[in-house]
Amino acid sequence: MCAKKRNNKARRDPVKSERAMIEGILEGSPDGIGVAVIRLDCGCRKMAAVDKNGEPASKIIMYRDQAESICSQCKKDNGDFMRVTEQFISWKDPEPGEEVKQMIIAKVLGTADQGPAN
Ligand SMILES: [Zn+2]
Repeated sequence: MCAKKRNNKARRDPVKSERAMIEGILEGSPDGIGVAVIRLDCGCRKMAAVDKNGEPASKIIMYRDQAESICSQCKKDNGDFMRVTEQFISWKDPEPGEEVKQMIIAKVLGTADQGPAN
C-alpha cells in the first residue's frame, strides 16, 4: 500500500501561504476567474488575476514566503522568465470549461503545453 506511486504532482496543492495569496488576489479582483501563479527558482512567486478573456484582472504581485520582500535577484531581473520553475493557473470555483482554460493558459502563460493534466 505504501509503495503506491504518487505521481500526480500536477495536482499538488499549493502551499498554504500561496493559497492565501491567491484568495486575497481573487477577492480584490472581481473580474478574476483565476490567478496565474509563476514560481521562480529562487523561491519567490509572481501572481496575477486573469479575467474570462485571459486579460489581466489585477496587477502582477510578487512575493516571497516568510519574507518582507522579494529576493535581490528578483529585484534585479523582476522574476525573469528564464528562472521560472513552474507556472499554472489556480481557477476560482466553478472552474471554466476546458476550452476556455486552454485559451487562457495559452494567452497568459504563453504556452498551450500544459499537457492533458487532470
Ligand atoms: Zn526571488
